[in-house]
Amino acid sequence: MKADIELVSIGSELLSGRTLNSHAQTLGAALTLVGLRLSRDTTIPDEIEIIQSAVREAFERTDIVVVSGGLGPTSDDITREALAGLFGCRIVMSTEGLAALHKRWAERGRAVNPAAERQALILEGAETLVNSAGAAPGERFHPETGKVLFIVPGPPNEFAAVLADHIIPWLVQQFPGAIPLEVRILTTEGIGESDIVTRLEAASFQASEISIGFYPGGGKVEIRLTAPREQLSALETAEEILREMLCDHLRI
Ligand code: ATP
Ligand code: MG
Repeated sequence: MKADIELVSIGSELLSGRTLNSHAQTLGAALTLVGLRLSRDTTIPDEIEIIQSAVREAFERTDIVVVSGGLGPTSDDITREALAGLFGCRIVMSTEGLAALHKRWAERGRAVNPAAERQALILEGAETLVNSAGAAPGERFHPETGKVLFIVPGPPNEFAAVLADHIIPWLVQQFPGAIPLEVRILTTEGIGESDIVTRLEAASFQASEISIGFYPGGGKVEIRLTAPREQLSALETAEEILREMLCDHLRI
């Protein structure tokens, strides 16, 4: 199974400018920490044919796809129907998801209405991923051997909860050889990117096992040094050299 993971962010509001898509950032950060890679994010509207083609195309490139949004009880939430159509499977009620939903509502002194119960529907054969932050559970579905589809609710806190409670632990178990990344960040002020690069070149600064990213903005440049944990000492050495080289412009 490939360790590259794709996200399909579903929600018309993500394209109309109403809502900033935060899931790519949340997922990308969580995967990077455990040494895995978010290789692509495709943001699409709540439209059946577009959902189906986006997920089909994602699985042509990779083996693990995360889909978010459109699992709610309203008529614009059509993610499940689209996926059931794509994979030719039925939609069934998740016993576990329904029990968690009733418990959640009971704790708030409310009786569950049938519309809310629809949130506990899952693809037949999917594993229910109980949502500790909301009503709609996530799902882990295997469309074929060696392929995994995670279906996750859209609200950012719920997305993050299902990710942390279920998806990341599952992935870590699948990829025991993944090496977590270490990151070091330096922030400079009053010196431009090209001047920083000129200094590095003049000093013949090289750190082949480390990747360096430059992120300018607001008169500052953030320099991010990243390396697998096993290269920690090389990373620390590189950080020290850079700090010295840029000491007159470092923000503390
Ligand atoms: P629910 O069961 O709560 O309705 P859902 O899975 O149906 O969840 P949506 O209805 O699509 O999710 O979205 C719920 C909320 O989460 C909306 O306010 C939506 O804008 C927000 N949301 C969805 N996807 C994203 C995203 N990628 N980034 C940020 N916010 C998002
Ligand atoms: Mg939506």
